[in-house]
Amino acid sequence: MPRDPVCGMNVREGKDSIRSEYKGQTYYFCSDKCRSEFDRNPGSYAGDAANEDRNRADNSRNQRLDNRQPR
Ligand SMILES: [Zn+2]
Repeated sequence: MPRDPVCGMNVREGKDSIRSEYKGQTYYFCSDKCRSEFDRNPGSYAGDAANEDRNRADNSRNQRLDNRQPR
């Protein structure tokens, strides 16, 4: 069951559900209010998981750069 990224409640997925797309992902919302909140600032709601992945990738890239530098 999809989760409303704004308020965190579970949303039933259906053809009449309120949804928005961001970076190829579909997000479901309990209300228009949550959707407009999401649309105003999708990055801060969308993707906790995606952001963490990006941070992790950045970190490992930084470590690799660090290893290449002479001490
Ligand atoms: Zn909501």
